[in-house]
Amino acid sequence: MAKKQGKVGTVAVIAHQRKSLGGGLDELRRLLADEGVGELLWYEVPKSKKAPKKARKAVKEGADLVIVWGGDGMVQRCVDALAGSGTRVGIIPAGTANMFAKNLGIPEDLPEAVRIAFHGEDRKLDLGRVNGEHFAVMAGVGFDAEMIKDADRGLKDRMGRAAYFWTGLRHVRGELVTMKIKVDGTPWFEGEASCVLFGNVGTITGGIEAFDDARPDDGWLEVGVTTASGPIQWARTLGRMSVSRSDSSPFVRMTRARKVTVKLGRAMSYELDGGAKGTVTRLKAEVVPGGLILRAPRPAPSDERPAPSGERAGTGREPEVTRA
Ligand SMILES: [Mg+2]
Repeated sequence: MAKKQGKVGTVAVIAHQRKSLGGGLDELRRLLADEGVGELLWYEVPKSKKAPKKARKAVKEGADLVIVWGGDGMVQRCVDALAGSGTRVGIIPAGTANMFAKNLGIPEDLPEAVRIAFHGEDRKLDLGRVNGEHFAVMAGVGFDAEMIKDADRGLKDRMGRAAYFWTGLRHVRGELVTMKIKVDGTPWFEGEASCVLFGNVGTITGGIEAFDDARPDDGWLEVGVTTASGPIQWARTLGRMSVSRSDSSPFVRMTRARKVTVKLGRAMSYELDGGAKGTVTRLKAEVVPGGLILRAPRPAPSDERPAPSGERAGTGREPEVTRA
């Protein structure tokens, strides 16, 4: 049982109007009323691009808790505006892609997500930042989640999930681009590559686990670059990966960094949390340790959602896929 709490001070809701979960925003209002909210600030936006302004307004109005209703794109816009503000954030995963919430164990279940927002524990989490903009899940170039989905599913059983993801990149027909990558000031990679990714959490856009050991609270960003091209190199990569971890492949290099700079041989568009951003020839990625205070399930071990005391009543949803 969550302990009975007094009135929560000022709560702000920033909701994407086109996203839904459970009984929708009407049910959210009822659930908030049940929590005994003192003052409620309610902002609805037609697209996530409009969210940062509302998030800043919420802070100015003295919100103690900002509840974000939407998917990863909405979360990204809000945490970018709220980073470093000290305002705690709750997430209601109402989007089509809710990878950040999923990584943190916040379920696609409206009453449960609200319960976590009010009675969870405050976790100080890292954010990433690319070219000045914060992200929660991942960022990078040369990656298309839609194409990864078409990758050979049969490989998944023979490899770890992270390996499956990196091998899936062979389906991306993006040409190789010259990249110069420095990690924490030291040259780390120079050559032709098809994709470079920065991860704050292990499971990224597309629902695929790309980074074996990512933690959003260790002060480090995960970095991966893939260089394989052509069927022969990929065959070798697949062979190697099927018997070991993804980072042992000669065509996938992975490391962990606080700051990464990438110089691209030609302009490419980059991605933050599933959203396409501008076209650039340089990327500066860095970790922002403790940039976000998130209301997360308690207790919150690294990767697993704690088993609730007594199963929740069936919701008619598919069981969540969790790692053993
Ligand atoms: Mg980390």
